[in-house]
Amino acid sequence: IKEEMKELLFLSAETVDKKRRVELSANIGTPKDVKGALENGAEGIGLYRTEFLYMDREDMPSEEEQYKAYKEVVEAMQGKPVIIRTLDIGGDKKLPYLEMPEELNPFLGFRAIRLCLDRKDLFKVQLRAILRASAHGKIRIMYPMISGIDEIRKANRVLEEAMEELKKEGVAFDENIEVGIMVEIPSAAVCADILAKEVDFFSIGTNDLIQYTLAVDRMNEKIAYLYEPFHPAIIRLIKNVIDASHREGKWTGMCGEMAGEPLAVPLLLGLGLDEFSMSATAIPFAKKIIRSFEYDEAKELAEKVLLMESAEDIRLLIKETCNKKG
Ligand code: PEP
Ligand code: MG
Repeated sequence: IKEEMKELLFLSAETVDKKRRVELSANIGTPKDVKGALENGAEGIGLYRTEFLYMDREDMPSEEEQYKAYKEVVEAMQGKPVIIRTLDIGGDKKLPYLEMPEELNPFLGFRAIRLCLDRKDLFKVQLRAILRASAHGKIRIMYPMISGIDEIRKANRVLEEAMEELKKEGVAFDENIEVGIMVEIPSAAVCADILAKEVDFFSIGTNDLIQYTLAVDRMNEKIAYLYEPFHPAIIRLIKNVIDASHREGKWTGMCGEMAGEPLAVPLLLGLGLDEFSMSATAIPFAKKIIRSFEYDEAKELAEKVLLMESAEDIRLLIKETCNKKG
């Protein structure tokens, strides 16, 4: 099996009939993770969780420090795209040097883009660091926890300010840097047609999208049985997001755990997902699955799934379809 996986490394993630090719990328938390991503054949970084740079320390990381980390990642990726997610702190993740309110519902509270738009000083430092690193490779910016269009516009205003500052200072950056959002709040998934006009790409964050859509705390063991990626509501939302982006000529990726779940891969392929981002070690197997399907077969599977009523039936159908392939 090891040999087979090695051979896969140099092959693209395309269907057996070559009608459809997708991108398989890796999720990372620190520059150290890039090595594993490349070793497993990642074609890019689909999610760089920057909060680790901010955690376990006494003070805010400086612009210079952040710039160095982002530059290290993008240089190591040798021209392959790197999606850097802006700070997603709050919820369960707290910072000792940042005053955070006591909240009854932290996951519905002051976190991620909400915090960044409240603390534009801090947000702009990160955006400047990302922009400076964009001079060294292909970087894309991604905002987390977007619930509606106003947040995108407000965030972009801070980004524009950062760009203007750098221009005045004569500092190089990618002026055509692509900007996208995580679709992980149901309102964003429902209004994907509106948001698609305002962004360059979407990345579906199923970890939170499932939690918020099904009202199931993703950490709560007691109700873990309700946390269901194959719930028809989740699949409909995913379809809506992908279709809305394509109608605007944009693309949709997925960086939640679902993207690397073997049973989900053929379904997502059939729904038209463009990029799958997962933990690096899941990439070879996902590629193997994609390479075993014809595109029409995956689309047919997706069409059938969209008519089904229960997650259990959906899983069963996908399992049967995969088993037939051996
Ligand atoms: C998600 O919500 O699916 C996601 C990828 O982000 P995180 O797991 O960091 O919340
Ligand atoms: Mg999330």
